[in-house]
Amino acid sequence: MTLAARSGALSDIGLHRKANEDTFVVAPPLYAVCDGMGGAQAGEVASGLAAETLAAAVAEGRPLLAAAERANAAVFRRASEDSDHSGMGTTLTAVVLAGDTGHFVHIGDSRAYLLRSGALEQLSDDHSLVGEMVRDGRLSEEEAASHPHRSILSRALGTEPLARIDEFEVDLCAGDVLLLCSDGLSGPVSAAAIRKALGRADPDDAAAKLIAEARRQGGPDNITAVVLRFEEPRPAGEEVTLVVPADEAATAVLPARDEAPDEAATALLPSRDEVPDEAPHEARDEAPGEAPDEEGAADVPAAPAAPSRSAKRRLRWLAVVLTFLTAVAFAGALTVSTVFYVGVDDGRLAIYSGLPAAFGPLQLHAVYRRSSVPYESLGPAERRLVDEQGLHTRGSIMALAGTLGMWP
Ligand code: MG
Repeated sequence: MTLAARSGALSDIGLHRKANEDTFVVAPPLYAVCDGMGGAQAGEVASGLAAETLAAAVAEGRPLLAAAERANAAVFRRASEDSDHSGMGTTLTAVVLAGDTGHFVHIGDSRAYLLRSGALEQLSDDHSLVGEMVRDGRLSEEEAASHPHRSILSRALGTEPLARIDEFEVDLCAGDVLLLCSDGLSGPVSAAAIRKALGRADPDDAAAKLIAEARRQGGPDNITAVVLRFEEPRPAGEEVTLVVPADEAATAVLPARDEAPDEAATALLPSRDEVPDEAPHEARDEAPGEAPDEEGAADVPAAPAAPSRSAKRRLRWLAVVLTFLTAVAFAGALTVSTVFYVGVDDGRLAIYSGLPAAFGPLQLHAVYRRSSVPYESLGPAERRLVDEQGLHTRGSIMALAGTLGMWP
């Protein structure tokens, strides 16, 4: 059985860092969090390069561990070739969904959690000095949480030619919720608060609540959350109304549709009651004993005419569904963080990933990073830079963000 997965993801610079060195990937069936390190802009380069290499390798069909090893090689090579990036590295916690199984790879101190039946379980081990000491029994969880060396990693991606990457699988059930997060979330936010936030029905709400809670606890580091909620797939043939609310579409990824195309097509078909205008008419045509009034109608059975109209209607809806799914696939591809622009979110400047456009209810972009700089504070020239919504690569969008003073 293929479970349907709904996702929500958000990254935030936090309250004390000058840049966001976290990167997340939402490219169903792959989901990942990377937390870069290395000073200056090297951490950002490491996490971005690892995420992009991983996503490309998985898209090529490579097994997840092989894709992670390729990401390790890419980061290590860049660090070796460029003295500005010497010594950089990143954490990586990633899952690929296949049927009802989650295949994980993990290295570093980002975390994977599973909420099942109200109980929260940490699936990954922290590859940090204090994490090793906790597992050895030399330190308690409480002591580790405030240990001055808690950020020192014992393993990371990109710092050695060959990385020791953990690999494990988890059988998933309907009702399960997965969280991938950076230490900027798992550090300041208590397990109880994580459990409570993951209980929210909407994964986007859960991610936003977790980010807000980390900020409320001081936001000492960059904060990233990828939330996945698993549900039973809808039975084929079941007629339902559009199941994806607009604000969920704003994540620009609808994993359940990508992962279960048959069910997705069913889910997109409106119920007959909601087909506009012609539906009542056609429904009447199909009703037995109500043949059209035309002359000779009594000699012509009504039944043969109805399938023809019905078939045309199905074809029309099929075309709509196929167009919609194409847009969904396109939007999904965008969330690998390859295209960015600066826009305004609630009056403040933000970096968006994707295109500044919408396809019906589906927004082809999502907020990637928010700043606290109000649009109103910009001069005319700077406003023009925002208003034109030009598309950028990861590197050039950060340069534009710097020009606009989005981060101190
Ligand atoms: Mg961090």
